[in-house]
Amino acid sequence: MTYVPSESRYDTMQYRRTGHSGLDLPAVSLGLWHNFGDDLAFERQRAILRTAFDAGITHFDLANNYGPPYGSAEENFGRHLRGDFAGLRDELVISTKAGWDMWPGPYGKIGGSRKYLISSLDQSLKRMGLDYVDIFYHHRPDPSTPLEETMGALDQIVRSGKALYVGLSSYSSALTREAAAILRDLGTPLLIHQPSYSMLNRWLETDGLLDTLDEVGAGAISFSPLAQGMLTNKYLGGSVPEDSRAVKARFLTPEALTPETLAGIESLNALAADRGQTLAQMALAWALRDPRMTSVVIGASRPEQVTDCIGALSGPEFTTEELARIDEYATA
Ligand code: NDP
Repeated sequence: MTYVPSESRYDTMQYRRTGHSGLDLPAVSLGLWHNFGDDLAFERQRAILRTAFDAGITHFDLANNYGPPYGSAEENFGRHLRGDFAGLRDELVISTKAGWDMWPGPYGKIGGSRKYLISSLDQSLKRMGLDYVDIFYHHRPDPSTPLEETMGALDQIVRSGKALYVGLSSYSSALTREAAAILRDLGTPLLIHQPSYSMLNRWLETDGLLDTLDEVGAGAISFSPLAQGMLTNKYLGGSVPEDSRAVKARFLTPEALTPETLAGIESLNALAADRGQTLAQMALAWALRDPRMTSVVIGASRPEQVTDCIGALSGPEFTTEELARIDEYATA
């Protein structure tokens, strides 16, 4: 059936300004790392994307190697763009990345060379059928490549019109500061940083990343804010559904669900219920509690999850006592 986007799609979503740029992002963005390769029915993908866009999610996050197989998430997303989203390009912020392993040989492996980044983006554009992406990221730091070369490639990419903005992912505070200075000197300011961040993964707090980003004028978008599904009602009671990521994918395994972690998750779930929220909603509201966090990028295997997650934006503020209890349960 022909897709007609909801007329009320911009009525309730919260948009946050990205650092010192002019770009607003939805507080909840959708990532296509899982569930958009050839492992989930195209129709389910379509339903997820429609639900997201109808709720005001304008930002879709990809990378060269999302799948499986590598590249297939971009190919499938390209098909959705040509179908449902034809004519809507200017309402979308599309990001992609390069830096992890992608193709055989020395030029498509983990790295940050000018050769890898530029050829990878050319491939991504072809797979998605786009002339440009909105944000292009270096996906992870590469200590074996001079930072000047990697930042020079990002600058060249923007100047060539293949991306409007650039970002970094999983860079430490110290390296981000250096990289941002190089980019500023080149005239292509760092737009955004994409770190992992959730109640169960707080490295950016000890690293002072949000302070650094504030200093350099960049935004932040946290990935895996639900700890890949652990911070939801999915694994409560120790059950591991057959179609869950802990069974289907390789980056989350049932072994991560230790009795201690599960006990903490049960307590967090009870706290969320006291607040009138689902655990997923409380986890996302928590990750977004600092206004310097521009957005959280979630994953979803069904449209109902997207709807549930967006509910995070209408919950109550956290009290000091609730925050302390979250610290206690999430680090138990
Ligand atoms: P999340 O932590 O949001 O985990 C998503 C998973 O949680 C879903 O696939 C689903 O699991 C489950 N889930 C989501 N919502 C609900 C809900 N309301 N109720 C119950 N279960 C729910 O994020 P991801 O790990 O998927 O990462 C999100 C995005 O971040 C990626 O798509 C990618 O764009 C980006 N990313 C970036 C990285 C980087 O290096 N820069 C690395 C990793 C991710 P199930 O599938 O089992 O149903």
